[in-house]
Amino acid sequence: MNDSCDVLITNASLVIPKSGVSFDTNILIEKGKIKKLSKSVRDTNAGKKINAKGKFVLPGLIDPHVHYGVYTPIDKAAITESRSASIGGVTTIIRMLRLSHSYREIESHLQASNGTHYVDYGIHASIFGFGQLADVEYLNKRGINSLKLYLNLGNDQNVVSMDQDPGNNSINNQRVNVTRDLMTATMKKAAQSSSVVLVHAEDSSKCSRRIRNAQEQEKKYGNREINPLKIWSECRPPESEAETISSSCHVAKEYGCRVYFVHLGSRLALESAAKQKANSPGRIFVETCPHYLTHSIDYHSVVGKVVPPLRTKKDVESTWWALKNGIIDTIGSDHVASTLSLKRGNGDLWTSLAGFPGVATLLPVLLSKGVNENKIDLVKVSELTSYNTARIFGMYPKKGIIKKGSDADLVVIDLSVRKKVTPEILQSHSDYTIYDGWVLNGWPVMTMVRGEVIMEDGEINGSTLGHGQFVEMG
Ligand SMILES: [Zn+2]
Repeated sequence: MNDSCDVLITNASLVIPKSGVSFDTNILIEKGKIKKLSKSVRDTNAGKKINAKGKFVLPGLIDPHVHYGVYTPIDKAAITESRSASIGGVTTIIRMLRLSHSYREIESHLQASNGTHYVDYGIHASIFGFGQLADVEYLNKRGINSLKLYLNLGNDQNVVSMDQDPGNNSINNQRVNVTRDLMTATMKKAAQSSSVVLVHAEDSSKCSRRIRNAQEQEKKYGNREINPLKIWSECRPPESEAETISSSCHVAKEYGCRVYFVHLGSRLALESAAKQKANSPGRIFVETCPHYLTHSIDYHSVVGKVVPPLRTKKDVESTWWALKNGIIDTIGSDHVASTLSLKRGNGDLWTSLAGFPGVATLLPVLLSKGVNENKIDLVKVSELTSYNTARIFGMYPKKGIIKKGSDADLVVIDLSVRKKVTPEILQSHSDYTIYDGWVLNGWPVMTMVRGEVIMEDGEINGSTLGHGQFVEMG
């Protein structure tokens, strides 16, 4: 019998999450979806054939933690940052959207997003005030089912850059106060609407006090300590993360709310989260970021300023341990798209911005430092970067797996490709990277979103701009 399809990928070593690698597999794609996986393609007519011999094919990555639209408006940021995502094999980015007023304003963001993305995208909604909780049902209807709480924002540490209005390139700083009462109300609401709550777990009062003290010391005695990242880590200690994790889980448990802890990368925070996961099986999720696997305070530069801070080398080891041992569910980049001059502020610790770009280097870092150094295998990578993420945020089985009926989102990787990282090859708006000059082994060589090749050998297919679609979650 003759079979037909739009795109046929032959001889793939197909990485199947929770299962293993299926060698010499052929992938038949039609109308942007997986039509069939087959061992034989003798009688298949295909519009386009791609030979994946010697290469692994993974489900396209879902990066659940991307800040874009903050330092350039979304209509511009979508183009540059979704382009950068495709360089890194990421086929869906989830925007960490911050609006200060009603989330009904999301319509203008959705409009500006339409036609400006190379890859698919979803949205998390950050909650800064009680009034926004009235918008949760509206958000649910629009396919947005995850609410972010910045428990680090309050007391002295209360200014945040909101996302810019589409079409308007001006930094939009606002004062906010994310109180424990707001957390309780958000978790209650989230439980009623089956939303998941993303928690940035730090204690704003503790961090504010320590930052104030460090700044006073500096004024009195001058800046005697020469490593800014060490000071930053001491100002925002792991203890504050660990305590906030346990206190927020206490509230979540009371209401039956699912909680997702973003960006954990210290031993104490991971231990605290592990304890809570054992207490509430299937309801607590943990994300880490690539930089907590590759950088410590020894990086020694304000460019490494991030929240929560980079920690010690021991914490880096603990993060790898947690990754291998099932404490960590997902990896998000916590990508912040900004230029180096904006990032550095006046060049000192206090005025430089937190965060740096990372969406394009997430997978190469895991392949180079994880797979090629025998710390984790490709099946684990597919779970951490796609399968688990899709399940937690309600995109599965449309995303997160390569099987019949799923979106044909996939990334072809070559573990033997060695490339030196430069900001240029990452193709973000950002003109710097913390991996600048690193030679990484193992790169994506093709990124496909719903059957369309967006990136091949580091080159973007410009005609696919606008192919990316909004993904409803939940
Ligand atoms: Zn973030």
